Amino acid sequence: MDDCCSLCNTEGEYTTLIIECSFAVQCLQAEKNWLVWRVKTTELPQLLRWLSRAKVSRFQKHVYAAVVAGLVYCIWEARNRIIWQGDQASCIRLIEDLKWRIKT
Ligand SMILES: [Zn+2]
Repeated sequence: MDDCCSLCNTEGEYTTLIIECSFAVQCLQAEKNWLVWRVKTTELPQLLRWLSRAKVSRFQKHVYAAVVAGLVYCIWEARNRIIWQGDQASCIRLIEDLKWRIKT
């Protein structure tokens, strides 16, 4: 159970949670839809590389970077809730959480 991902129940991805976790990928996809962010990759390192090269305004870069950082935090938090409170992983709720966080 220890080296099993608590978000998507896949084995042996503990250390690469955000990058390989199917739940994280699903959330990232939802987030991209929300932002209407047309970038193909679902992998965080590539996303960050895209961000550093993208020909978008500084403001937009700032927003994207904040959302990505927020997402990573929300996923981490969701994982803790599952571990400590026996919560269920919910992509929709995570994105709602994230939107609320970004706006405030
Ligand atoms: Zn996972």
